[in-house]
Amino acid sequence: MIPGMIQRTMSTIKDLIEQDVKFSKGVGPYFEEILAKKRIHTLFDLVTFFPRDYEDRTKMVTITEAITTPDKNAVVLVEIAGIESLTVNFRTVPKLIVTDGDHVAQAPLFSGRMPKGFEVGVQVVITGKFKRGFKGVQCSISEIELSGGTPASYGRIVALYELTAGLSQKKMRALIHQQMTVIQRALKYDIPSPYKLKGTMCYADALAEMHEPAAFSSLEKAKRTIIFEEFFTFQTMYLAANRPPVLKKAPRYSSIVRMDALKRTLPYTLTGAQERVLGELTADLMSDRQMFRLLQGDVGSGKTIVALLAAMVVVENGYQAALLAPTEVLARQHAATARKLLGDNAVIALLTGTSDDREGTTRDIAEKKCDIIIGTHALLSETVSFASLGLAIIDEQQRFGVDQRNVLLSKGSNVDYLLMTATPIPRSLTMTLFGELDLSVIDEMPPGRIPVKTKSMGLADRSHCYQFLKSRIAKGEQGFVVFPVISESADDEILTLVDEYHTVCADYLFNIPAGMVHGRMPAPERDGTMARFASGELKVLFATSLIEVGIDIPNATTIIIEGAERFGLSQLHQLRGRVGRNGRDGFCYLVNHGELADIASARMKIMCETNDGFKIAETDLEIRGPGEFLGVKQSGLPEFKAGNIIRDADIMRDARAAALRFLADTPAGIADFNARRDYLAAHLQSAEPNV
Ligand code: ADP
Ligand code: MG
Repeated sequence: MIPGMIQRTMSTIKDLIEQDVKFSKGVGPYFEEILAKKRIHTLFDLVTFFPRDYEDRTKMVTITEAITTPDKNAVVLVEIAGIESLTVNFRTVPKLIVTDGDHVAQAPLFSGRMPKGFEVGVQVVITGKFKRGFKGVQCSISEIELSGGTPASYGRIVALYELTAGLSQKKMRALIHQQMTVIQRALKYDIPSPYKLKGTMCYADALAEMHEPAAFSSLEKAKRTIIFEEFFTFQTMYLAANRPPVLKKAPRYSSIVRMDALKRTLPYTLTGAQERVLGELTADLMSDRQMFRLLQGDVGSGKTIVALLAAMVVVENGYQAALLAPTEVLARQHAATARKLLGDNAVIALLTGTSDDREGTTRDIAEKKCDIIIGTHALLSETVSFASLGLAIIDEQQRFGVDQRNVLLSKGSNVDYLLMTATPIPRSLTMTLFGELDLSVIDEMPPGRIPVKTKSMGLADRSHCYQFLKSRIAKGEQGFVVFPVISESADDEILTLVDEYHTVCADYLFNIPAGMVHGRMPAPERDGTMARFASGELKVLFATSLIEVGIDIPNATTIIIEGAERFGLSQLHQLRGRVGRNGRDGFCYLVNHGELADIASARMKIMCETNDGFKIAETDLEIRGPGEFLGVKQSGLPEFKAGNIIRDADIMRDARAAALRFLADTPAGIADFNARRDYLAAHLQSAEPNV
């Protein structure tokens, strides 16, 4: 196709997005290659290649004024009074002698080239730094152009781009300027006004303003517009893909009498945060909207009982609830808790891969002989069908894929959906990473929870921790020892669980009953060892981070984390959460096996300073930066061009709310939106849902 034709037929965003930048005026094969280095391939890439900075070049000054700010660019009108040359690094470059009448300055052209029309007697405008030196005033030029034409480098707030070899600011500005009118015409779409952020402008104007701002105030407005557009687009696509389109159901639960009565029989009173969250859950359950909620709460904050009480609402109204757990151990533990706390109020079934009577249990579920069904992946099996599934609860949701979660949802109609996680995520990020879910947070610990005392040390002080562990065992308590890897690491330096289990037992824990669990051992053996530890027969449990999820053994008070520098912060925090439960003192030793890098030592420091999971997550985010923290590729987040999900968290919040309204209110809007989506798909290439 010939360029002119494309320009004439270009009427939709999609065309614009897809039009190869090489068909633009001023871009030949040479610049095509250079632009590609900046990942600019299409016209849209070009106009959304936003400046890295701006410089106010509206005011022109004299050399006298310019030398008062020798480190800042100034714009000065001068006449070329002479042309000499200068040798730098064996290269000869032209040197302009310029004057404004009061001062004479020397201005070398380090590019080595003499621009067209530059000769003695002509007037030029220099943007540069003017400094008094001992050979007179020296000028280092940022940009220079002949005076008299349409100014390209001065007379306004000027955009500065991130460049690459062969590309100048001037060229970049010219390329973008050329496309602006075309784009203004092509970009007829905008976010429908009811959903736009207050105080923003139309999208096409904002694009123009980003590159050629009229004033800093309007530039701010343009930035907000662009960021909001990016976030709104992301949220709309993400929500459309991840949130059930129909969140309506007939209200089917009307009574919470039994649940309330049961709540009063618990061995403890719920914390304020538990009560508040339970309120949020019951409100969802009793409304005509399907629940679609994430429950976040630090390790030990008491999510289980809240989930069980929500399940009771469903049960009391004649439906079934399912609770999915990632491990067999956890499923058993939940079933035991449920049977103990709910008593006769509900029939609990446990279904795991190793259940004795899988067939019988499966039949009971289908025939509604049980109310709350707790299990592992076995629940997802095709053979399992529920008589009347009303609520699906997924514990430690990060352990499951979206597909697995959906399988459970598909086992009922308009099933209310509750995901739980103890992985603390900074609040500023939740609405981005889990935008499709409503959020409840238990941000308060049950009373009497004493912060776990934490110490970080080197391998040399290791015997001290085991001495300490022995003293706790003498008091009738138990402990965990955790290693980062099971065995046979490629890295010879690293101490492994299997090797060290025997050494440590022989050296430090002589005659103390200990056991070992890890992910590569047969499940029955692992469960057997876990059970012996839970019963108190074994005093020490050696493990990998397998025990990180949810295990609740109140009598275990000490945890020794070997090779602590190899664990991430949130993992360390989760592991530490295994001790210091039920009002007991807890102790955590972080044994570092190697020299600590800066990041690792920052991690140890924050672990020793606080027990607050959210604070730890915030610090982790600070230490590692959002990219590392989120693992952007893995999190499925696009790389936003203008927005920053942390800095612009408030805009993200507004964008999410607007996108939810947009999707809910206007079916027609969605149809319109489909046209946009082609564009969006290109725009946000990595936005596939993956949370
Ligand atoms: P998590 O949120 O990590 O899943 P759990 O639900 O396992 O935490 O609860 C941790 C422990 O706290 C359990 O032993 C539980 O019995 C206890 N617990 C929960 N809520 C309260 C409360 N309000 N008061 C006292 N103890 C509580
Ligand atoms: Mg839990």
